[in-house]
Amino acid sequence: MTEIKLDDSVLTTRLEDVLNWGRKNSLWPMPFGTACCAIEFMGMMASRYDFSRFGAEALRFSPRQSDLLLVLGTVTNKQAPVLRQIYAQMAEPKWVISVGVCASSGGMYRTYATLQGIDRVIPVDVYVPGCPPRPETIMHGVLKLQEKISRETLVARKAHIEEFYLSLDRQKELQEAAGCTEFQAVREMVLKAGNEGDQRIW
Ligand code: SF4
Repeated sequence: MTEIKLDDSVLTTRLEDVLNWGRKNSLWPMPFGTACCAIEFMGMMASRYDFSRFGAEALRFSPRQSDLLLVLGTVTNKQAPVLRQIYAQMAEPKWVISVGVCASSGGMYRTYATLQGIDRVIPVDVYVPGCPPRPETIMHGVLKLQEKISRETLVARKAHIEEFYLSLDRQKELQEAAGCTEFQAVREMVLKAGNEGDQRIW
């Protein structure tokens, strides 16, 4: 944090630094656990690791009460629109950590049914490697996110989230124009992005 002390009684800093300091130390995580990585997360939240040290122990299972989405496990193509809806409903500003190779790249599931990386449908801030990543590795991912939050500008974070909302508008337009379901629209957008050499739809 940029700060100058004046006679030990006055502290000057930037508004952005203060807000980011508050944001990074009061994350409210929501786990989206679909497979084995979620078990490692449960271990991390247990008393042995004392996750409260990082101010992010207040777990919520409602997206409207959370600002940190942890995707823990394999995500199928059918779950992709659900994941997008959960991200859309979360409180702003919001961040995403992709935990394990399944969430980050589809992992060993190179199949037509598995989403080959959640970053194709929602923005991801930190990728945690491993299959499964140990609880310490997931904690390291959260610490990396805290570092990222302390460096980012408020405008950049807002623009980052806005980009996703624009893709949600495109998805709704496609649903209405083609009369298809959310799943069909997202699948169509993912395939089209892949054919055009892009890996993401947001
Ligand atoms: S990355 Fe490994 S441990 Fe995690 S969900 Fe996939 S298979 Fe399970």
